Amino acid sequence: MTSDTTVALRARVAELFPALQADLEALVRIPSVSAAAFDQAHVAASAAATEQLLRDAGLPDVQILSAPRPDGTAGAPAVVARRPAPEGAPTVLLYAHHDVQPPGDPATWDTDPFEPTQVGERLFGRGAADDKAGIVAHLGALRALGLPDGADLPVGVTVFLEGEEESGSPSFRAFLEAHRDLLAADVIVVADSGNWKIGVPALTTSLRGLVDGDVELRVLDHAVHSGMFGGAVLDAVTLMSRLVATFHDEAGDVAIEGLVAAPEPQVDYEEADLRADSSLLDGVALVGTGSVAGRLWTKPALSVIGMDVTSVAAASNTLAPSCTAKISLRLAPGQDPAAADEALAAHVAKHAPFGAQVTWSPGEQGKPFLAPGDSAAMRAARAAFTEAWGTAPVDVGMGGSIPFIADLLEVFPDAAILVTGVEDPDSRAHGANESVHLGELQKVVLAEALLLTKVGEGL
Ligand SMILES: [Zn+2]
Repeated sequence: MTSDTTVALRARVAELFPALQADLEALVRIPSVSAAAFDQAHVAASAAATEQLLRDAGLPDVQILSAPRPDGTAGAPAVVARRPAPEGAPTVLLYAHHDVQPPGDPATWDTDPFEPTQVGERLFGRGAADDKAGIVAHLGALRALGLPDGADLPVGVTVFLEGEEESGSPSFRAFLEAHRDLLAADVIVVADSGNWKIGVPALTTSLRGLVDGDVELRVLDHAVHSGMFGGAVLDAVTLMSRLVATFHDEAGDVAIEGLVAAPEPQVDYEEADLRADSSLLDGVALVGTGSVAGRLWTKPALSVIGMDVTSVAAASNTLAPSCTAKISLRLAPGQDPAAADEALAAHVAKHAPFGAQVTWSPGEQGKPFLAPGDSAAMRAARAAFTEAWGTAPVDVGMGGSIPFIADLLEVFPDAAILVTGVEDPDSRAHGANESVHLGELQKVVLAEALLLTKVGEGL
């Protein structure tokens, strides 16, 4: 690709950007919260609005589709728009989601969450970043490449805009399986993550996986008087506490044998930022060893996320006969979830305190994601980002999971998945005062247009 192409595309994106921003603002005005307690008519409205945008952009085949959820109810409407590949050219699937998180307490926002408000270079509003900006990034890249005529679009594209990502994508797997042929692609661009900081692009190359489950500990057949038996018999809550304490070593690293960790990340997360972002109280030390980013992205993490014990208000002087704890284990990239589940079960059995009876009941399993470091698609993305920003992208990880990525990998094992996005550290996705940086969004649009061009030049 000549730099003339980049210069021309940059100018084209700049020219298109005001209309693109107006489209983003119109989408933000639709309160498309997919959480069950909210009016789902708004999710239908955002599907209809994005369908219209894709039609107007000149994609020839646009439809609203849904698939059943595991409970049998209908999934939220997704929009799928296609333009077939020129003979012999690859197809790129462009993913984003049109639903949003609930706004939370409006009093915590400085502006109306559903009235987009520009302050300086930032546009505030629920979904302004996550993920309506992802929709606009795809739309902008396609417009920049000359749709509806599409003279400069050398690849096939399928735009796939999900409507229930913020509710855990319950019908996603069924949707992929029902529409496998429609969605099949050589490269999948998931625009639902973010960049490292303003001016520094990033590719999200790792996501942690997850296993969870319940450990039940039993010590007595029924509750007994703590005065009569305490001293010779420990209550189930104390025994559970001893078991839980074995999950971490003295430094606070996960102490379950057999779990893997991935190499340390390229960049680190400042301790001060982590303290502020997590609201860690003064004097509380961080746990774990190695870089802060590594602890969050490339090592396992274990949390107790629930425990069934007698409440303080209902307490009596008895020894609890049993106790159940729900354990959530985040998995490092490269970890097999089934092996992690077995390691957790073995740990629980081995560390049963004082011979207490313990049982492990497995729960959910989600695979971690680790992008291949040097695939052709990754090289194309790195080159496109470098041209758009004038600086090379860094590889970042995410401590959480994007569960649907595992589904994409399983249903389309041969596709290269690129996780990109428009967020930056101040975007506050899911929080109050969510915003997108408009200058960065413009670079995201340019980078995606460049990426599509490069993919068309051959992988
Ligand atoms: Zn999102």
